[in-house]
Amino acid sequence: MSSANPAAAQSSSQGAVSSEQTFLPLTGHCFCRHLSYTISSQPLMQGLCYCRDCQRISGSGFLPWMSVPASSLTLVGTPKVEHVRGTSARGTEKVMSACADCGSTVFGGRYGVDDQHTVYAGTLDDGCVGRFEPTIALFVSERPAWAKLQIEMKEFDRMPGMKPVTSRH
Ligand SMILES: [Zn+2]
Ligand SMILES: [Zn+2]
Repeated sequence: MSSANPAAAQSSSQGAVSSEQTFLPLTGHCFCRHLSYTISSQPLMQGLCYCRDCQRISGSGFLPWMSVPASSLTLVGTPKVEHVRGTSARGTEKVMSACADCGSTVFGGRYGVDDQHTVYAGTLDDGCVGRFEPTIALFVSERPAWAKLQIEMKEFDRMPGMKPVTSRH
């Protein structure tokens, strides 16, 4: 977008503000509250990941995530952040950011390094957690029967664009 037309830019930014007013900002924190954050723009995507990695990271049947540009995620103060590293199912390095004090994994990627993060929606504050609205479900091929939710989502066997897993039998 060019800045040659300030009137158009202003009206589009006002429109964005009004539609986001009820949703933003989103705030959240780890279990011990030493790692707190604010999200200042509408998440790019919201979904659940059922891959075995995310099951282990969360200790649950899935990981609820919101992808946000790095510019919209702000950590409060100077929390001690620990990087949890591993190799993803796709063979790529996976780095998550956890609170160094309580160990809660709070978001994917390294703050101040990566240009996008997946913030784990279970860490949202009480007043915000209900605003999370997952629309896509990833890696449903690895979803345990007991973790299927009764909400409508676009389901992917793995990731969008990834071929379904062929039977391992
Ligand atoms: Zn903590
Ligand atoms: Zn996953």
